[in-house]
Amino acid sequence: MAVKREKIRIWDIPIDKVNRQTSMEIFDELMSSEGCSMIVTPNSEIIMAASKDEQMANLLREAELMIPDGIGLVYASRILGKPLPERVTGIDFADAALSKLAKQGRSVYFLGSKPDGGSGKSVAAMAAEIKQAEHAGLTVAGVHHGYFQEADEPQIVEEINRSGAELLLVALGSPKQELFIQRNRGRLNVKAAIGVGGSLDVWAGTLKRAPEFFRKHGLEWLYRLIQEPKRYKRMAVLPLFMIKVIVTKGRK
Ligand code: UDP
Repeated sequence: MAVKREKIRIWDIPIDKVNRQTSMEIFDELMSSEGCSMIVTPNSEIIMAASKDEQMANLLREAELMIPDGIGLVYASRILGKPLPERVTGIDFADAALSKLAKQGRSVYFLGSKPDGGSGKSVAAMAAEIKQAEHAGLTVAGVHHGYFQEADEPQIVEEINRSGAELLLVALGSPKQELFIQRNRGRLNVKAAIGVGGSLDVWAGTLKRAPEFFRKHGLEWLYRLIQEPKRYKRMAVLPLFMIKVIVTKGRK
């Protein structure tokens, strides 16, 4: 029986009303349906960008699954009176997906992140090794770094198809990764593709997750800002997003 789908809308962008468990049930369904499904894990930054860019808005409307990553979306949904149950982070969702694939004997392809993670191997290859050790039975059908030209894409798509992978993780940062998936989904033989941002870096250990103190006090953003100060402009989007949600509340 098909999983019952519920969505909320923020400025006419549909977001799935899911928790960790229901997002995995939908994932299962997509993995057994026709074509390459596009899974997006939006945060307030992407939704804000879509409110100013119709092309981005259309891309998000095309996604088969929109998982609410980003606490801003959860707060916004409460303000709008259509509360999302919880934040489901992209990295946790991707990890749960890998665990599922391992149990089912299905394979994954890692595309993205730096060609050298510091050990002479690409970040994608390092992440693949770690995930294979963590999830017994997981097959990583192939890996490719994320620093290529658009002209190289047909060759990369062919390599992914040849690998026989059923799931594709794309770590090119947002919105690059979503645009890659949208552009190539018609040619990809995988069952689903997800943009995973910095997840390969976290798995490979090249980007540290915030220590206990920062996590306990809800200060993960501050830790990230200290590690990568040039992100401050992007982070300033969250308060602007919240203000816009409050101001436009009741309009649509
Ligand atoms: N990246 C890439 N190719 C590019 C630009 C970025 O492979 O042309 C990778 C980068 O190495 C990092 C990830 O994309 O692993 C971006 O992660 P980030 O956390 O910045 O994602 P975002 O927060 O932008 O979604």
